[in-house]
Amino acid sequence: MTAYKASIERLAEMIRESKYTVVLTGAGMSTESGIPDFRSEGGWWRRINPATVATVDALENNYELFKEFYKHRFKSLEPCKPNIGHLILAEWENSGLIKSVMTQNVDGLHKKAGSQKIHELHGSINDVLCHSCGDKHTKESFINEESCKKCGGKLRPGVVLFGESLPILAWENAYREIETSDLLIVIGTSLNVSPVNSLPLAAGGERVLINMESTSFDNKFDPIIHDKAGLVLDEVNGLLAI
Ligand code: NAD
Repeated sequence: MTAYKASIERLAEMIRESKYTVVLTGAGMSTESGIPDFRSEGGWWRRINPATVATVDALENNYELFKEFYKHRFKSLEPCKPNIGHLILAEWENSGLIKSVMTQNVDGLHKKAGSQKIHELHGSINDVLCHSCGDKHTKESFINEESCKKCGGKLRPGVVLFGESLPILAWENAYREIETSDLLIVIGTSLNVSPVNSLPLAAGGERVLINMESTSFDNKFDPIIHDKAGLVLDEVNGLLAI
């Protein structure tokens, strides 16, 4: 048996035996839905690394660029649908195999796939609000470049920008879920972004990583499966169904 096959079988066995499995996902979860991650060259926008535009600094000091970037992002996310990996996680939650999903993704695809207990650690691009007073607005208002009707402030998507703190409730819930877990499955993240990259260290039990490439935290996981999330989840799902 190949090492890959052995890891797939082991993960299926771990899921079967675990009483409290939770999942933490990152941008690699959604690349198979056609949404590029931030680290790969394919994820760059007009040769600008999005991580330099998704910032408080750009929002406050370069609003034209910020708006252009997020208008482009809204448009490019429109046709994207959950992939097989999102659907399998929703099915696993439904059948009691996993308890919740913590995600760094802002694309809303876990929700679209049918997952219910989701902790969005970096917010959601589907919520638009005023940067000054927090009043809620529609996506259309942002796209039409309107200002806040209440205070005249700048509109922005409800995502956590680089330079901002994480939503406290989502963070506390995620921390508690991971601490309680006896199995944590981390999927599609470089674990480069702080503080989310510290969450796996709080895990109460075993930790598994499914990611295309190595991360600097690989020694904290066993097994590590370096392959596509959708493919791996599909294979594990096949074994769980037997
Ligand atoms: P990242 O871009 O730093 O890392 C993604 C990782 O996923 C990489 O290590 C890559 O090798 C791996 N990967 C890519 N495709 C994969 C696949 N099909 N299967 C398995 N692994 C795959 O992403 P991050 O760690 O989530 O951090 C980036 C930040 O940017 C986050 O804060 C996130 O909010 C944001 N972001 C979100 C989205 C989204 O909502 N879909 C997309 C891009 C970036």
